Amino acid sequence: MTKETQPISTQEFTDKISLHRESLEEKIYNSLPPKIIELIKRTRNKTRQTLGINPENFVVILGEQTYGLNECPKVIGKRIFAKGLEKHGIQPIELFAVYDIASSEGAIYRMQIPHPNSPDGFISLNILKGWEQKKNVATVGFRPPTLEELSKALSTITSLYGKPKSDNLKEYLGKFYLTQSNYANANIEILREFLRQIGLQIATWASDGVLDTLIAKNGGMEVMLYLWPKLIEEAKKHFVDGVRIPEIQEAPFFLYHLEGCYGRMLTKFTNFDSNKELQIDSQVFSKCLHCGFSETTTPQEIIESGRIITWRAIPRVIAYSTLGIADGHITGGGSRYNKVAKPTIERLGLPYFPITNMNLDGGIFVYESSACKKGGKYKEKSDQLVKEGKVAMADLILSIGVRQLREVVEETLNNGVTTNTKLVFERTLPKNSQIIEF
Ligand SMILES: [Zn+2]
Repeated sequence: MTKETQPISTQEFTDKISLHRESLEEKIYNSLPPKIIELIKRTRNKTRQTLGINPENFVVILGEQTYGLNECPKVIGKRIFAKGLEKHGIQPIELFAVYDIASSEGAIYRMQIPHPNSPDGFISLNILKGWEQKKNVATVGFRPPTLEELSKALSTITSLYGKPKSDNLKEYLGKFYLTQSNYANANIEILREFLRQIGLQIATWASDGVLDTLIAKNGGMEVMLYLWPKLIEEAKKHFVDGVRIPEIQEAPFFLYHLEGCYGRMLTKFTNFDSNKELQIDSQVFSKCLHCGFSETTTPQEIIESGRIITWRAIPRVIAYSTLGIADGHITGGGSRYNKVAKPTIERLGLPYFPITNMNLDGGIFVYESSACKKGGKYKEKSDQLVKEGKVAMADLILSIGVRQLREVVEETLNNGVTTNTKLVFERTLPKNSQIIEF
C-alpha cells in the first residue's frame, strides 16, 4: 500500500490536530516579531468568536463550492469524515466559496448525468443560463434559474429516471431557486437541506467573503501584508504544476465590483518597492475582469469600509492555518495549492495544519444509477463514471433517495469512519418513489 491509500481514522486525525495545536504557539513565537504575534492572536480569537466558535476548541475546516446538487458525491465523503471527527470533540466548519467565478469550475453551471446511450456515457445539463457571457462574475452575482429555465434544463432527466422522481427533484430545487435572490446562496441552501435530511449537516458555516473579510478586519490583513513578499519568494521554490504563484506586486486578495457587475477585480500594489515593507496604506490598483472598471484604494480603506475581499488560494490556506482559524483541513482530494502552501509556510518556520482527504479510488458511494438500469450502447462507460463518483450528486439522490442514504450514513458513522470508508447501497429506488423531502 502506498502512503496515499493508507487509511486514516478519525482518531488518528484527531491526534494529528492535537499535536499541531500544541506546537502552534511555539512556532509563531520563534519566528515572528511581537507586534505580528499579537495580531495573529487577535485575529484568531475575534474571528472565532464572531463565528460562534470557542477560541480553545479544535476546529477542522472543509471548503465547498456553490454547485448545489451538481456537485460530485465525493463532497459528501468530506462530511462523513467531519461528522466522525465530531465524536472526538472536533468542531467542523463548512466554508462556501460564493465568490468563485463562473468559469473556474464546470460544475457551477453544469449538472453531469449518466446516460447509457450517449457516446461519452453522460450528458451535461446547463443549469446556469448565460454564464458564458459572465465568466468572470462571482456566483453570488447570478440570479437563480426561473422555474421555466429549470424545467427546460432538467427535461431530459424525465426519460432517464421517470416522471415522479424528476418532478420531485424539480420541485425541491425550484423551492430554493424561487425564494433566494442569487444562485450561490440558493445552492448553499439546496446542499445544506439535503445534508440535513441524510444526517450530515454541519452546524457552523460561513461564506468565503464573510470569513476572509472578518480575518482581514481582525488583524489578518496586517499579518498578510507583513508575510506576503517572504511568502511569494519562498513559494516560487515549491512550484507545482497547475498552481499559479502570484507576483509579489499582486495583492494577496481579490476585490469585487459589487456596485456594478459582481465581476472579480484583479489587484496590484502600485509603486511596489522590494526594499520597503508593505503597509496598511499602500496603494492598490484594481480592475474588474468583467467590465474593465478600475479604481485605486488601500487595504486600510478596504477594511474601514467593510468591503468584501477574498484571499487568493495560497494566502487563504495560510490565513486559515497559520492564524489558527482552523486546526485541520479536510479536502476532497484536489486542493493542489496545499502542495505549495505547506512547504512554503514551513520553510518560514510557521505552522501548517494537518490535511486529510477521502480516498477517492473507485468513488465513495457504491450504487447502481437508475439512469443506467435500462441499459444502452454505452452503459459500461456510464456505469464506470458512476462508480468513480464523477457524475452529479443529483444522480445519487434520484437513484437511492434520502431515506436509504440516511440509514447507511447513520450505520457508517456508528461503525467508525476512515478515509477509506465506502457506502454501499443494495437497492435502487423504484420508479414512483419520493427521492427527497421538501
Ligand atoms: Zn465590473
